[in-house]
Amino acid sequence: MTIHVKRAYRYRFYPTDVQAAELSRTFGCVRKVYNMALAARTEAWALRQERINYNTTSAMLTAWKKTEELAFLNDVSSVPLQQALRHLQTAFTAFFAKQSKYPRFKSRKKSRKSAEYTSSAFRFRDGKLTLAKMDQPLDIVWSRPLPEGALPSTVTVSQDAAGRWFVSLLVEDPTVQPLPATGSAVGIDAGLGHLLTLSTGEKIANPGHERRDRARLARAQRNLARKARGDGANRAKARRKVAKVYARITDRRRDHLHKLTTRLVRENQTLVIEDLTVRNMLSNGKLSRAISDAAWSQFRSMLEYKAAWYGREVIAVDRWFPSSKLCSVCGTLRGKLPLGVRTWTCDCGATHDRDVNAAKNLLAAGLAVSACGAGVRPQRESSRTGQSVTKQEVPRREP
Ligand SMILES: [Zn+2]
Repeated sequence: MTIHVKRAYRYRFYPTDVQAAELSRTFGCVRKVYNMALAARTEAWALRQERINYNTTSAMLTAWKKTEELAFLNDVSSVPLQQALRHLQTAFTAFFAKQSKYPRFKSRKKSRKSAEYTSSAFRFRDGKLTLAKMDQPLDIVWSRPLPEGALPSTVTVSQDAAGRWFVSLLVEDPTVQPLPATGSAVGIDAGLGHLLTLSTGEKIANPGHERRDRARLARAQRNLARKARGDGANRAKARRKVAKVYARITDRRRDHLHKLTTRLVRENQTLVIEDLTVRNMLSNGKLSRAISDAAWSQFRSMLEYKAAWYGREVIAVDRWFPSSKLCSVCGTLRGKLPLGVRTWTCDCGATHDRDVNAAKNLLAAGLAVSACGAGVRPQRESSRTGQSVTKQEVPRREP
């Protein structure tokens, strides 16, 4: 079986003045077209209860370009403008499906500046990317290679609030293929003291640099706080320093989580995790600060999309499941288990490492759902009995 996985590869680039002007003009036209089409659709619905679709807005765009006051729309590539109408269509589809709010107007200051080019509007040859209406290829910093022989199908150019330019290339990744099935399953507990504890008994520590990086961040933040009343230049410098340390922490953490999730997905067919929510993690103090909320949700999302790529299954067990307090040998539920208690002995005689026991229970609960819930839509009911578990749907890959 071959699967087609599209992945986005994002890079910094440095436009020439001419390119920057062209792109800024394009961003402006994209915003203009999007907003006009949104206004037209809103008006049609409000006044005539009429639904306007993509094709109608596309015809409108053609008409707008012929008018004198909107003739400037002809100066930029038409593809990003068409793509803006498609994005608006997607936004309306999501709205009608009750998945999102009514589409909003794009603001000059707050909205993300971006333009999307499909293959008719760019040329990719010999590792050089040239956009429509431009003579020169973009000066891209190829911080990591594209997969061998990969050809981008869509290219998105954007500029962030700090003025940095990015180009994102959507390519089919031939390196991603389903792995041969394996019988192994693992329960994964996000515990105290360790990043993760597996039902196999393995404990995965936080990377050694994490603590040092955090100390560095705390120092930079204290420094910034001291400069709060100082002059503007020093304060800006201190703020940049904090941003830099923070970016370094998140980069290194992402690398670490990538390696970890790839390994876990390769080794196991079924991966059972706890369906933690941010609120829960913060309030019960169960997790060490090293695996912060961000790290856990990042871990989970990586695990889920990689499982989808490689033909594996991720099962999230309800967060009210008493994974720590349940004896994984005899099934007796303990009344209380204070956080400080790292090992305990059950009346049945089994002695447990708290986190390993929790991971084993997660695994057992997950496998129970997997066995009886195959082909059944997952239930989202939350139950405090510990019997209800939610089965995770395989998420769609983001472009
Ligand atoms: Zn027991």
